[in-house]
Amino acid sequence: MADEVTREEMEVDVLLVGAGPANLACAWRLMDLIEKDTAAGGTLGEAVIMVIEKAAHVGAHSISGAVLDPVALNELIPNHQELGSPVKTKISSDAMLYLTSKGKFYVPWVPSSMHHEGCYAISLNELSSWMGTQLEARGCQIFPGTGGAKLLFEGNQVAGVQTDDKGISKEGHRKANFEPGMNLRSKVTVFGEGVRGSLAKELIKKLKLDEGRNPQNYTTGVKELWEFPAGTLTPGQVYHTMGYPLDMQTFGGGFIYNLSDTLMSIGLVVGLNYLNPFTEPQALFSKMKLHPFIADILSKGKMLRYGAKAIPEGGYWSIPKNYGDGFLIVGDSTAFLNPARLKGIHLAMKSGMLAAETIFESLKKGDNTEKSLAEYDRKWRSSYIYNELYSQRNFHYMFENGPLSAPGFVMKHLFTGFTAMPKMHEDHLNMRKLKVHFSGTPPTPDQWRPKPDGKLIFNKLDSVYYSGTNHDEDQPSHLQVSDTNICATICVEEYGNPCQYFCPAQVYEMEEVGNGKKLKINASNCVHCKTCDIADPYGIITWVVPEGGGGPKYDGL
Ligand code: SF4
Repeated sequence: MADEVTREEMEVDVLLVGAGPANLACAWRLMDLIEKDTAAGGTLGEAVIMVIEKAAHVGAHSISGAVLDPVALNELIPNHQELGSPVKTKISSDAMLYLTSKGKFYVPWVPSSMHHEGCYAISLNELSSWMGTQLEARGCQIFPGTGGAKLLFEGNQVAGVQTDDKGISKEGHRKANFEPGMNLRSKVTVFGEGVRGSLAKELIKKLKLDEGRNPQNYTTGVKELWEFPAGTLTPGQVYHTMGYPLDMQTFGGGFIYNLSDTLMSIGLVVGLNYLNPFTEPQALFSKMKLHPFIADILSKGKMLRYGAKAIPEGGYWSIPKNYGDGFLIVGDSTAFLNPARLKGIHLAMKSGMLAAETIFESLKKGDNTEKSLAEYDRKWRSSYIYNELYSQRNFHYMFENGPLSAPGFVMKHLFTGFTAMPKMHEDHLNMRKLKVHFSGTPPTPDQWRPKPDGKLIFNKLDSVYYSGTNHDEDQPSHLQVSDTNICATICVEEYGNPCQYFCPAQVYEMEEVGNGKKLKINASNCVHCKTCDIADPYGIITWVVPEGGGGPKYDGL
């Protein structure tokens, strides 16, 4: 139906898809460069820069731990604190704990990559929101509630994107409020859609941008924001945890970041290359909160917010080619995240800044071909993005099968000097079938899920409520399952329908129908974490943008 409508066309010079830290930094830097150029008599003052964002407002879909290395922000906006940036709480102490089921011990040697001198405990969604407001005040055109739905090409050149249609019913009919998406045509399009960006994923596949690279590997992070009485917390105190509740074959760990004396970010990150098909990040996070050390801290507080997001952890070997005719890819969409430091915001921002410098030069030359935009590749490889990612290139590979796999990796690669790319496959290929993983009858969810009490432990639906998630229910599902027969026949037998467990928002349910089961998709619960697009063992789930404005409304996360 979408092709039958007449779409409004708009031409811009630079189109930024997604308003996360990478693209916001790109817009900021580009405006700086253009202003400077105009003051010097240049002609780029009329250039139109447009940012589109699927969330209802800038920052509403941004979520991270987060400990910020301010290096890129300080370079981009040296006076950001004077301007009121929400970057205030310096890390005051950091410790790494190994948790057993009831006890804990301090890890005596913390790798230097996990030291946080000069870093800040922040809320990413507050930072994105602040940058968006500042950019709008500078005259940048930002359109929230607008998703990039389709790539536009002229030959093999990316020529912009089509935005989401609004007002289509569940059955695909136009409703009274129908508004077709626009064709936004641009000289350069920058994809900064965050992790597993839906258009970036399509582009990478279409242009084979990942040829010769390893597939991307991911974790899923589940977190909450807690509030405490004034003076309870030490601002800037950081704990990272290993061990419980994860088993020795599962990659991941927990975090506690004190944002102030009253606010704490707490969460658990779980590698999506897990073996147990019943791995459930939200339930594992609940188990972590029941650990005596953590339950004691949380007993004085109150949960305020919930959110979840996949995290690209593959590092250097998984970075696709991120430039081409008419486009660049920045931030998490191109896996600029250092898994050894658990940090990506500074790399995302730096990549946006380098993209801006590349685009500025290409606009000056009037050349948006791959040859011109390849300068982005040279720039990031000459920057600290490369230094950080190359020096930690094997981090994820060492811990592929949990903490015990590191010595084996080191022995295997010692003689190559660790310079050869280790072979890696997609995460979901690790998942074991039920009969391989469980020797007897597989457990049922009530055997591994802690009982909700509405204070410390929450069921998934309550958690979704605390994420502020909302979608218009009368729209086509943005979770596209290519063959639901597989769910009801093969998957139920082989893997026990793991979508019910890896999804942190209870979107997928297997309903009893007659003598069998049928997949029910509660798309309106979706917190846009992208886990299902990655972890489904048959690779039959595709996440596409829903109607713009839908999704979580993160606040303080
Ligand atoms: Fe995440 Fe997919 Fe569940 Fe949405 S449906 S919350 S993207 S796992």
